[in-house]
Amino acid sequence: MGIEETALEVISKHEDGVFQNQLWKELDIDSRKCSRVIAKLLKDGLITRESAVDNGARTFLLKTAHKEEPCFQLLLSGEMFSPCAGCRDACQPESCERLTAWVINLPQEDVDKQEASATE
Ligand code: SF4
Repeated sequence: MGIEETALEVISKHEDGVFQNQLWKELDIDSRKCSRVIAKLLKDGLITRESAVDNGARTFLLKTAHKEEPCFQLLLSGEMFSPCAGCRDACQPESCERLTAWVINLPQEDVDKQEASATE
């Protein structure tokens, strides 16, 4: 395991984040090397960094970057998944029976929400 992976593992073990001035001690590397490792993890979007103070010393709080979970809610009509996802047919939405069935199946509350947001 490379030093970046080890650093990422240590950072992710600290749910509330870890101070940079603790990280290099935990990794048993010097602060300059730690800065290079952190720069790489930041560049790859794997961690976040914010200014912090630890025992009166200025440092950074490092946390693992949480990617947003994909939300498929808007593709659902009740239990039906959108027929358009992955569809390769010649598309004519006005006469597409699968799309019509999906729209008819939309729960009324979703339709009301859409209408309300359209009039805002
Ligand atoms: S409207 Fe019908 S034809 Fe067009 S992408 Fe959706 S499912 Fe496919």
